[in-house]
Amino acid sequence: MDTQRRGVMLVIASPSGAGKSSISRSLFGQDPNIRLSVSVTTRQRRTDEVEGTHYYFVDVPTFNRMKTDGELLEWAQVHDNFYGTPRAKVEEQLAAGNDILFDVDYQGTLQLYEKSRPDMVTVFILPPTIKELRARLERRAQDSAGTIEKRLRNAKIEMQHYSEYDYIIINDDLEASTQKVRSILAAARLTRPRQIELDNFVKGLQDQIDSL
Ligand code: GDP
Ligand code: ADP
Ligand code: 5GP
Repeated sequence: MDTQRRGVMLVIASPSGAGKSSISRSLFGQDPNIRLSVSVTTRQRRTDEVEGTHYYFVDVPTFNRMKTDGELLEWAQVHDNFYGTPRAKVEEQLAAGNDILFDVDYQGTLQLYEKSRPDMVTVFILPPTIKELRARLERRAQDSAGTIEKRLRNAKIEMQHYSEYDYIIINDDLEASTQKVRSILAAARLTRPRQIELDNFVKGLQDQIDSL
């Protein structure tokens, strides 16, 4: 059995194409207690992306207004576009005991660390080889050749920060990688500070001893 708990802020980061979206998708398929933090972005929507599911697609003036009005928990410029995490849903979901998955870059991770470190568990995904990373970006067929080159170069910068994440997964086999993230989440859910009813639960056990 489980006592009532506070949600986990699960950050999954990786160089573009290493597989974090694929891992996230299979996690969601298997676990009803996890929600995606849907970011706002000024980037063009890809053909397979759905407004409100993958991102909220906004123009630059709208993004700037959200920033100024304090509606973003964090924001960053990544590959020439702006990305930000809407603040509203996060606290509500954590308090309700739902875990939230964040697909944010390193700049986003740092900003979340400043505000929310005790709630966070961070995972960095690496590709097995750069040849394979390029092949995945090409196979995904969502970005132009120029964009793919830029993402490969940015991969080097993103990877410099791997040592600041709690867990590292080399995504060779998608199913095995997803299982590893599930194990990390399962352990994080059981940490003492997240089990918010423990005092009452233990008190109840002690009362039962007293009434033996
Ligand atoms: P992908 O890396 O190929 O899946 O490309 P995306 O366009 O989905 O993501 C681009 C980059 O923006 C990634 O590094 C994300 O981690 C980052 N990103 C996405 N959403 C956010 C966000 O809300 N905040 C921050 N700081 N970064 C984000
Ligand atoms: P990211 O979100 O990190 O940019 P994606 O999840 O979009 O990466 O993955 C990039 C491409 O690589 C996709 O076409 C995906 O199907 C493929 N892919 C992801 N993980 C694996 C894996 N372990 N083995 C082979 N292909 C993979
Ligand atoms: P893509 O354009 O391929 O969807 O995302 C590019 C990068 O932006 C990815 O590394 C992704 O993690 C990051 N990203 C997406 N949303 C956010 C966000 O809200 N905040 C930050 N900081 N990064 C984001």
